[in-house]
Amino acid sequence: MNSNFASRLLSGKTALVTGSTSGIGLGIARSLAEQGANIVFNGFGDAQQIEKLYTEVGAEFGVQTAYHNADMSKPAEIEAMMRFAADKFGGVDILVNNAGIQHVATVEQFPPEKWDAILAINLTSAFHTTRLALPGMQQKNWGRIINLASVHGLVGSAGKSAYVAAKHGLVGLTKVTALENAHTGVTCNAICPGWVLTPLVQKQVDDRAAREGLDNDAARKALLAEKQPSGEFVTPEELGALAVFFCSPAGNQVRGVAWNMDGGWAAQ
Ligand code: NAD
Repeated sequence: MNSNFASRLLSGKTALVTGSTSGIGLGIARSLAEQGANIVFNGFGDAQQIEKLYTEVGAEFGVQTAYHNADMSKPAEIEAMMRFAADKFGGVDILVNNAGIQHVATVEQFPPEKWDAILAINLTSAFHTTRLALPGMQQKNWGRIINLASVHGLVGSAGKSAYVAAKHGLVGLTKVTALENAHTGVTCNAICPGWVLTPLVQKQVDDRAAREGLDNDAARKALLAEKQPSGEFVTPEELGALAVFFCSPAGNQVRGVAWNMDGGWAAQ
């Protein structure tokens, strides 16, 4: 191991990041690995590319990495993933509930099966991972649960009923989990990003470009101009740095917050 890796903030800890094969989850997994945490990856994608991804992160940061393909809409698969993490690394010290999907339609046109899928993946999965991770964290009297909510956990946007309901629910779960563990070394907080340019948002850029006859660049600018006063996307690296802060000793008394990193979106 590289001697620069000695005594990092999260050496000896294990982080499980759901939905970490792409976007924000991958950015947060990389930031935690950079601080020395072993990482359990999860998410969908091409099996070979995923293997390459977690092997490379392990080598780049000198940590152990593993992958579990649990579908976060399926409680039995979530339970299998948590058992896998316990068998492989002796438990989960840092749980990042990040997996999420989006669908845009008005309430009366919203497909009920999409509603169910969004609630299952964006909210209920966090209940399952949290209930399964907590006993081990409580036993060690140290743990960090970080829920990737959204600025849509704080405010609404037309067309996003299921997503906004799930993210508001996730902020609620965050507060209750934080309170129930407030007398312990286990903290729970939510991160509420504004627009981050990931595949989830690029799809909305593409839809807007098609709808309004814009090129990709103009559609991105229009998306930002509508909601995000900074006019700039938040990056996965910036969100990773916030997750590291929550895991640091300075985060010991940060409990139950919904911390937006949104270019000013929710300040309006
Ligand atoms: P993304 O599409 O790039 O990544 C989503 C990840 O979740 C992928 O790894 C995907 O494989 C995984 N995933 C999807 N369904 C899954 C399932 N059923 N089981 C397991 N894994 C599954 O999206 P992203 O933008 O990185 O979003 C990550 C999180 O951040 C989501 O919860 C999203 O709601 C939230 N968020 C994103 C933005 C944004 O602007 N991109 C803003 C606020 C909040």
